[in-house]
Parts: sequence; C-alpha cells; structure tokens
Amino acid sequence: MEKPAICGGVPVRDTKIYYGHQYIDEADVAAVADVVRNQDLTCGPKIGELERKLCEITGARYAVVCSNGTAALHIACLAAGVGSGDEVITTPITFAASANCALYCGAKPVFADINEETYNIDPEEVKRHVTERTKAVVAVDYTGQSVEEEELLEICRANQLVLIEDGAHVIGTKYKGKPNGSIADMTTFSFHPVKTVTGGEGGAVLTNNEEYYRKLLLYRSHGITRDKDLLEREPDGPWYYEQIDLGYNYRMTDIQAALLISQLDKLPMFSARRKEIVARYDEAFGKLPQIRVQKEIPESDTTRHLYILRIVPEKLKIDRRQFFDALGAENICCNVHYIPTYYFPYYERLGYKRGICPKAEKLYEEIISLPLYYAMTDQDVEDVIHAVTKIAGYYGVDSTALE
Ligand SMILES: *Cc1c(COP(=O)(O)O)cnc(C)c1O
Repeated sequence: MEKPAICGGVPVRDTKIYYGHQYIDEADVAAVADVVRNQDLTCGPKIGELERKLCEITGARYAVVCSNGTAALHIACLAAGVGSGDEVITTPITFAASANCALYCGAKPVFADINEETYNIDPEEVKRHVTERTKAVVAVDYTGQSVEEEELLEICRANQLVLIEDGAHVIGTKYKGKPNGSIADMTTFSFHPVKTVTGGEGGAVLTNNEEYYRKLLLYRSHGITRDKDLLEREPDGPWYYEQIDLGYNYRMTDIQAALLISQLDKLPMFSARRKEIVARYDEAFGKLPQIRVQKEIPESDTTRHLYILRIVPEKLKIDRRQFFDALGAENICCNVHYIPTYYFPYYERLGYKRGICPKAEKLYEEIISLPLYYAMTDQDVEDVIHAVTKIAGYYGVDSTALE
C-alpha cells in the first residue's frame, strides 16, 4: 500500500483524534453500579423507567426498548407485518441493518436513491419504487438530519405502507418543532457507543400505535405473554404463560437501561455541543471551494451524529482515498459512512447490481466522516479544521497552498 500523503511536513497535532467516542461521567458509573449491587439485572424497574423517559423526550405514546438498534428494526418490520414476498424500500447510504431487517422477515429490500444535497432518501425515488408488493419504507435519518417526514408519510398513506424511521442517528433532532420519534409509524433508535447516547448496546422502537406496541412487546420476548387479554387458554396456575407467536430474545438488561437513563439526562448538553461543533465546521468549510457542506432542510433542527466532509473532485488533485490518508497523516483518524449496502458481496450474490442508485454511489466516492463527539475540545475542532484547510489548499487545483 502507498504511504499516506503528508503535506506541509509537521502534522497539525501530535496525538490522534478519532471520528467518534462515547462520553461517560461519574453519574453514569454510579447508575450502573447501583443496579449491579442492588437490583434486578434484567427485566427490572429500569426498563419501564427508560421507556417512560424516551416517551417524555420524544412525545411518542409508547416505547419498547430492546437489545440493539438492529433488533429494533427487526421487530418493527415484524410488527408492520413485513413477510415473505413483500418489498421494503430503503436507502443504500446506511448501515447494513436498515436493509437486513427486511431480509430477516423474508422480504426483499428495494433501494431508492438519495437527494444529492441532503443525502437522505429522496421521496420522489421512494414513490417511483412502490409496487403492489411494497409493505414498508425504512427511512434513515442519515447523520441525524430528519428525513422529509411529510412527503414520506403522504406516499405511505396513499399506498397503505408503514413508515419505519431508522432513527439510529436522530435522537435529539426535531422535525417542524416535533421531536423525531413521534412522527413516523414506528421509529427505531440505536444506543451503540458511537451513537449520541449509549447503553453499551441497546435499541428502542417508538410508536403512537397501540397495536404495533402490543406486537413489539411480544416479538421482543419469544412471543411469550402473561397478559390475560391475550391468553388463548385457561391458566393452569399462577406460573402460567403462553407462547402465542414466534418472537426472539431481544431484551435489554437493567444495567444498560440504567446507563441510558443517566446518559439521557445529558442529551440536551450533548445536543448543544454537537450543534456548536457542526456550526463551526460548516462556517470553516463553507469557505473552501474544494469542500461541499451537507445541506440541511429548514424543517430539521438537527442534532448531528456524523459530520460528513464531501470533497469536490473537480477542485482537487487528489481523490477521497488520498484525502482520507492525508487526514490520517495529520493524526485526524476518520471513517467513511457508508459503503452502499448493495455493494456488499452478500447483496451481490442476491442479484443486486451496481448502478441502481447513481447519486448514492457518487456520494460514496466523495465522503469522509470527520471527528464529531461531545468531548471534543475547541482545540480538537480547530485542529480538524486546520488539517482539512491545509490539505484542501495544498492539493487544490487552482488555489495557492495555504501553508
Ligand atoms: C448503528 C445503526 C444501526 C444498528 O444499530 P445497532 O444498535 O448497532 O444494532 C442501524 N441503522 C443505522 C443507520 C445505524 O447507524
């Protein structure tokens, strides 16, 4: 492999900075220790407490927490009735789970292209892919920016489709003043450590629909119930329960729930800091012709989970790979979100071909995820800006080197 490009000699910083990192304080540690010492380790009081808190934060009527964001997507698809022979429309610019959840249910993921400025799924493209077999749309709030809820809901209502929002990035964001989580038919969250708040692992489904809520509870735990209204037979005794559907063990532990309750107390603080960093990046990169800034729709008041640097290839002598390596040489350790899902060998073997979403494929060639997390210092942020400016200037086709 080629050695990473270093421009201008000395790196802008001598310690490495990464694209994301969790923030854990003493309150988080104490919350976890308390559960481990004193309470039920799983299915105890922390689960209900967390679910109530998620309802409060989002305004959703019901919340069902589960083991991770992927499990949340799976049970949301099951609750929506997605099954064999159905189609589920989603974006290719996402983590694999957004499409895998359809496959888990025996359905076929159908990829709709993105809007080239916001990078979210384009409602017009969704409309174009609706068929007799379409059952649901899994819309991803990429980077934390809300999808176009109104347009998507209209398409879903007109075609009797269920709108599932993959909100793994979206916690803290509002669409037209309403928190995401209370708008789509179901919204899923992920609490993986790189996400805005974490439980180590964890997920949730939010909904206003009681029927979905009841199904989500069943699918989370083996399809087993003790609910008298659901039992099909007379109980044999007080121990009695029934399995009435095929569910999974997708439960969250009280340890995770306690950590999440404590993390959610910090959400306003996390959100404010992320917005501050994004504003500073946008201001700095907006001035560079070699860089394109992600467009935000006015309806979205965004808590950004990822910050996407998009290079303008015509204005640079280097490609994305070289830009990425040059950032690495400056000790800015980035990532790329995401490889279009249908590029993966598994999806290729299912028959998906390149070329089906040209805007998404072009985006993938041009993006780098820069460091964005709560605990970044102002100096960290300025270092990232300095490095990007330095590289853009050094390799710009018609600019004089800035350093
Ligand atoms: C993280 C993520 C998921 C999966 O969440 P896990 O909790 O890791 O299972 C799904 N969709 C998107 C867009 C994600 O970023």
